[in-house]
Amino acid sequence: MTPVIALVGRPNVGKSTLFNRLTRSRDALVADFPGLTRDRKYGNGVLGGKAYTVIDTGGISGDEEGIDAAMAEQSLVAIDEADIVLFLVDARAGLNVADQAIANHLRVNQKKTWLVVNKTDGLDEPSAVAEFWELGLGEPRPIAAAHGRNVTALIDEVLSPF
Ligand code: GDP
Ligand code: MG
Repeated sequence: MTPVIALVGRPNVGKSTLFNRLTRSRDALVADFPGLTRDRKYGNGVLGGKAYTVIDTGGISGDEEGIDAAMAEQSLVAIDEADIVLFLVDARAGLNVADQAIANHLRVNQKKTWLVVNKTDGLDEPSAVAEFWELGLGEPRPIAAAHGRNVTALIDEVLSPF
């Protein structure tokens, strides 16, 4: 069975940018403002001969009302559908209370979760990830989705049990 990878996290952390890189598509809208992806988007990719499916989501702000609540709901459905969850946080924005709220949900979820620190381009990786250890989701993994930094190595590792 093809493994399903869900991309979750606050709006604007780079989920759609990573989705586009993993699926080589332009289907997911990437914007300079948060919350553009309102529904789940599905794409497929192959790495090292292994096929996978990726789900892009609108994001969880941790403080949901109205359309944000619907987006958060989509994220919960995506987590349910996934074999693997990539929880993205933003190295430039730093650790945020909304990240804590999402982490609390993911910690009680049974799904294999990877904590992915995006936008580390131009940053020292160990310093960029340091504050995210306290989310209690294991080793924070630095990437730069926009530039491809560490992305192939991460996905290779994520897919290794499949
Ligand atoms: P989403 O709301 O989580 O889907 O985030 P997007 O993929 O739409 O990206 C939000 C913003 O972050 C856009 O302006 C992207 O160009 C920018 N971005 C995404 N990945 C990176 C990255 O690796 N480095 C930097 N510096 N910016 C990024
Ligand atoms: Mg998006």
